[in-house]
Amino acid sequence: MTATPPITPEAMPIPRKLPQADHKNLVGLTRPQMHDALIAAGTPEKQARMRVNQVWQWIYHKGVRDFGAMTNLAKDYRALLAEHFTIDLPEVVSRHVSADGTRKYLVRIAGGHEVEVVYIPEEGRGTLCISSQVGCTLTCTFCHTGTQRLVRNLTAGEIVGQIMLARDDLGEWPEPGRAPKDETRLISNVVLMGMGEPLYNFEAVRDAMQITMDGEGISLSRRRITLSTSGVVPEIGRTATEIGCLLAVSLHATTDEMRNKLVPINRKYPLDQLFAALRAYPKLSNSERITFEYVMLKDVNDSDADARRLVKLIQGIPAKINLIPFNEWPGAPYERSDWARIQAFADILYKAGYASPIRTPRGEDIMAACGQLKSATERSRKNRFEIAAEAGLPQPERIVRRPDAPDVH
Ligand code: SAH
Ligand code: SF4
Repeated sequence: MTATPPITPEAMPIPRKLPQADHKNLVGLTRPQMHDALIAAGTPEKQARMRVNQVWQWIYHKGVRDFGAMTNLAKDYRALLAEHFTIDLPEVVSRHVSADGTRKYLVRIAGGHEVEVVYIPEEGRGTLCISSQVGCTLTCTFCHTGTQRLVRNLTAGEIVGQIMLARDDLGEWPEPGRAPKDETRLISNVVLMGMGEPLYNFEAVRDAMQITMDGEGISLSRRRITLSTSGVVPEIGRTATEIGCLLAVSLHATTDEMRNKLVPINRKYPLDQLFAALRAYPKLSNSERITFEYVMLKDVNDSDADARRLVKLIQGIPAKINLIPFNEWPGAPYERSDWARIQAFADILYKAGYASPIRTPRGEDIMAACGQLKSATERSRKNRFEIAAEAGLPQPERIVRRPDAPDVH
């Protein structure tokens, strides 16, 4: 059965809620963190475990945002919670629906920064593509996000909040006692393939994914979460042991020389180091296979020789190769490979025994396709100062480059 997302208007401006500085947001706290926070707010230690269970279910299983609605808690305790905490999600600034059903949400986080979240409905599944950072400190030359200078790590709450707000929009909080199975859910899969390099924000991503996988809440299995990295080698082992989700790697080239140009982090962690970490991943995480993402750039990385080198490189690793036709953006220095070339490339991989689906570009008309995420942010940034003025907020911070950004230009 394929569920259909509800049809609603194209753009949905929602007034900004001012953050309550003296209230702690419960969204994004891990169970132990919530436990400590409830005790600090006056919950008797002996009750804390039970209270965490109850509040957790209300927030992550039922999608409730109002402490007053938590009917299995005594009125006094609900009041105590409301006095100390909030249940806050990032704010949806606009939502666009593509002709192909893809939805792109522009989401504003504290400080006025914005990230994008993309929902891709497909036959029998629905994938939510979430962001881990505002912008990206890496500068892959084919990626629009990489041209954005502003970078800030998202908090765990802002990461899991993206899943929760998409569930709100899709009307997908389960009825009590009727939790849908993964495969019948509108959001059956989550991919960390939006803006940012998730492994440069490891702890927040880990906590958010642990909350997402928790069986008492959103309860998505770890095999339905895919984290995509450009190859932050030191964190790959931790991803296996501390998250255990599926891994995708933005490979895009088969020699160090070319990968240095396309994915500059390769200068720090070249192919031999990357592949040593990848070879250990399946065993460490007990997952079946690694996805290799490969963007098809005309006359750059799309020859038969590249395809053959790719086969050699991944030999012995249980793998799937995702060929991504390059998605153009204004000013991009590359072109998309011709269709016949992409198919010839795929054919070589297929004959070598690899599944190599060619990713159909989705949501191109709304700039929601891979690597296009940025423009809506940039557009809206033009009037961010106006937005702040209208909402009676302090003027947003000026754009700064993260001081610890790697020197990989
Ligand atoms: N930073 C992580 C997560 C982003 S995932 C990473 O790089 O893996 C987004 C995927 O889209 C990556 O594989 C990225 O390399 C790819 N991509 C970036 N720009 C693209 C473009 N213009 N066309 C097609 N794919 C692109
Ligand atoms: Fe960052 Fe990934 Fe884009 Fe590279 S491809 S600039 S790592 S978001």
